[in-house]
Amino acid sequence: MNDTRIRHVVIVGGGTAGWMAATLLARALGPGVAIRLVESAQIGTVGVGEATIPQIRHINRFLGIDEDEMLRFVHGTYKLGVQLNDFGRLGDSYLHAFGDLGLPLGLTPFHHYWLRSHSRADAPGLWAYSLNAAAADENRFAPLEAVPDSPLGGIRYAYHFDASRYAQYLRERIAPGMVQRIEGKVVQVRLRDGDGFIESLQLEGGERVEGDFFIDCSGFRGLLIEEALHTGYENWQHWLPCDRALAVASAPGDRMRPYTQASARTAGWQWRIPLRHRTGNGHVYCSRFVSDDEATAQLLANLETEPLGDPRPLRFVTGMRRLAWSRNCLALGLAAGFMEPLESTSIHLVQSGISRLLAMFPDRQCDPQLVDEYNRQTRFEYERVRDFLILHYKATERTDTPFWRQCGAMEIPPSLARRIDLFRRTGMVFRESDELFTEPGWVQVLLGQRIEPARHHPLADALTDEQLDGFLADIRTLIGRAKNTLPPHEQFVARAAGRVAA
Ligand code: FAD
Repeated sequence: MNDTRIRHVVIVGGGTAGWMAATLLARALGPGVAIRLVESAQIGTVGVGEATIPQIRHINRFLGIDEDEMLRFVHGTYKLGVQLNDFGRLGDSYLHAFGDLGLPLGLTPFHHYWLRSHSRADAPGLWAYSLNAAAADENRFAPLEAVPDSPLGGIRYAYHFDASRYAQYLRERIAPGMVQRIEGKVVQVRLRDGDGFIESLQLEGGERVEGDFFIDCSGFRGLLIEEALHTGYENWQHWLPCDRALAVASAPGDRMRPYTQASARTAGWQWRIPLRHRTGNGHVYCSRFVSDDEATAQLLANLETEPLGDPRPLRFVTGMRRLAWSRNCLALGLAAGFMEPLESTSIHLVQSGISRLLAMFPDRQCDPQLVDEYNRQTRFEYERVRDFLILHYKATERTDTPFWRQCGAMEIPPSLARRIDLFRRTGMVFRESDELFTEPGWVQVLLGQRIEPARHHPLADALTDEQLDGFLADIRTLIGRAKNTLPPHEQFVARAAGRVAA
């Protein structure tokens, strides 16, 4: 029998996606599969991407990364969620906190008990039942597995970091000995006669790089997946109309917040991300509604600290590659698609694409059914993230600018319309299959964007008023106590830095 095993994987691109793919595949596949990565210093990386979601911590475990050491290298801080300002109405502010909300009773999710209580004028808000939110509110942070002496979950966290330093960390500290790095610019992609599989890459100096399987991490252009294989791009700008960003660093702030801030502007929103050595800022906006000059002015007027340079412009088209996997080529990162960083999902989509590839690792023939299954699962994941992001725009009562009026009036995908409608009528929200965002995430954003359910789950009426009050008060007490044990975020970061040998 022919040996059809894949022996040589070639990755094009040395940004976050490329180095994540290289190190994770090398560790998972072992020495039987050679991993080579081609990158070009001439072209450079996109170099933004400072906020993550908690799943990134699985990578550390898998690669044996020491969290303290890695965070020192990438100037990292900890993240408990995203604070969203001025999205529902001007003046609104809510946190999409990671982690649990309260505690379900039996099969009934917690938020139904809260919905029942919340008709009373003095009822505490939903976020009184989130440990992450309570800690964020006082700028506190420390890892905590669970709330002591209780069934409540603990702190769930991610990182803020300098994304180009993260790629550099993987390259310098993890990849040596596992991945062969090739410096060079790919100038031609050679396809095999007959089936059109990629056969080799031609570098500028004439060198040829052959492989059995190719991973396109070349950024927005999609050098292999689009320019060579022409898989096509599905444009989602009619739902997510922002198409430009300006990124600028500023001096560190006097408060190191353990959360990302996303504040709506006249035609988009602005991020603020605390790192150890600086603050990351950026304005994501829709060029049809605001000029570049005006967007720059809005960004600079809303910095908390002195800018450390000029804003750097970026352009993008929101959407996804029609096929993330075509023939013997898989696209990851910006080459696979792009959705704005409002919920910090891009790096995660790279990570889940790699996990999916490993779960479905092919032989050299790349069975078309396997490829279809990968593409089906990828589409499902992207579309659910897309819906979550659209919710932030659609569920607005803002009418103060043409951009927000258009967002409030736009047609949305039926999958999202159904979810909003169900929540409005019943208070119910269900996580579909293994989609990224959980019920507590959806509930916080739905309520944070002012979608009020008409009722709660009938099973939440099983408690008497006294039982309900006691249940809610106990959770608040436990969360309050646990929160008080956490140190200031800044202090925890300093301690973590001190734990690393210089
Ligand atoms: P890139 O960083 O663009 O890397 C492309 C690589 O391909 C480079 O190494 C380049 O040298 C190489 N290359 C290209 N052409 C060739 C060639 N011909 N020959 C050889 N090499 C070549 N994500 C998050 O998770 N959180 C965030 O907060 C976040 N914020 C963002 C904000 C903005 C404004 C933008 C635009 C993106 C943001 N992202 C965020 C997304 C994140 O930046 C990317 O997902 C991530 O950096 C991965 O990029 P990449 O590796 O796919 O591409």
